[in-house]
Amino acid sequence: MASLTRKLRREHKTIGFVPTMGALHEGHLSLIQEARQMSDIVIVSIFVNPTQFNEKEDFKKYPRDLTADAVILSDYQVDYIFAPDEHEIYGDNFSTYVYVENLTETLEGAARPGHFRGVATVVTILFNTIRPDFAFFGQKDAQQIAVIERLTKDLGFDTEIIVAPTIREESGLAMSSRNARLTSEEKKAAAIIYEALREAKIAAKNGERNAVKLAEIVREKIESEPLARIDYTAVVDKETLEYIEKVGEKPVLVAVAVRFGAVRLIDNTILSAKQ
Ligand code: AMP
Repeated sequence: MASLTRKLRREHKTIGFVPTMGALHEGHLSLIQEARQMSDIVIVSIFVNPTQFNEKEDFKKYPRDLTADAVILSDYQVDYIFAPDEHEIYGDNFSTYVYVENLTETLEGAARPGHFRGVATVVTILFNTIRPDFAFFGQKDAQQIAVIERLTKDLGFDTEIIVAPTIREESGLAMSSRNARLTSEEKKAAAIIYEALREAKIAAKNGERNAVKLAEIVREKIESEPLARIDYTAVVDKETLEYIEKVGEKPVLVAVAVRFGAVRLIDNTILSAKQ
């Protein structure tokens, strides 16, 4: 992959890179479509990254079907699929990890210790190997975006991070490979997450600036659904992920994690004073 992308750079081709863990759905495909529009060459990686799973069982159970994913991608004018095995990424005596301070211990980081160290490390390895002009990430994983934008700046990667909107089912439920593990009843119930985020957005549009009140609006709405168990509802600065008191000029992230049965779902919306 490194020698291939070296050759592409010599030919002055722009490279768009979409990192994934496979089990592709429309969320991933929208990133690929965006990459296709912006770049000469589109590279999609499929790698279930062991270091970002804090539970071995979760890693083992993660859906893997490279053939099915390749069939899906054949409709999307992808130039290369990069599906390294674990040892190609983490060689013998692998010892170097990337730790992004401040952004990685809260929210998802609190629930999944070590998760973002794994994400930051694999993204660094993939960026170094491919050296993409553009890399595409979904808004659905808002904290991941904050971490990757930080590490891209801090480590001086010459890669522009492009954030694509969250793709949702008709009900409003954000698409995720985890949705397949919901029962049909849970799946219906999980639409409450988007409704709650929308209520917060409407309240902000109508002038509500108080972060605690906005978080309450989200919490109360989700709690009205008996199958939902809230892990967190947070109203934080989109970039620093610090809790805020009032929605001001800077964009604000309203992020939630909610359990339905055995499945933990995350979602978010962005508020800005200009809206
Ligand atoms: P994953 O395979 O779960 O690691 O996700 C790969 C990329 O797809 C990440 O940048 C995710 O944020 C993005 N993604 C996952 N679900 C969605 C969605 N529903 N809409 C947009 N992007 C998504």
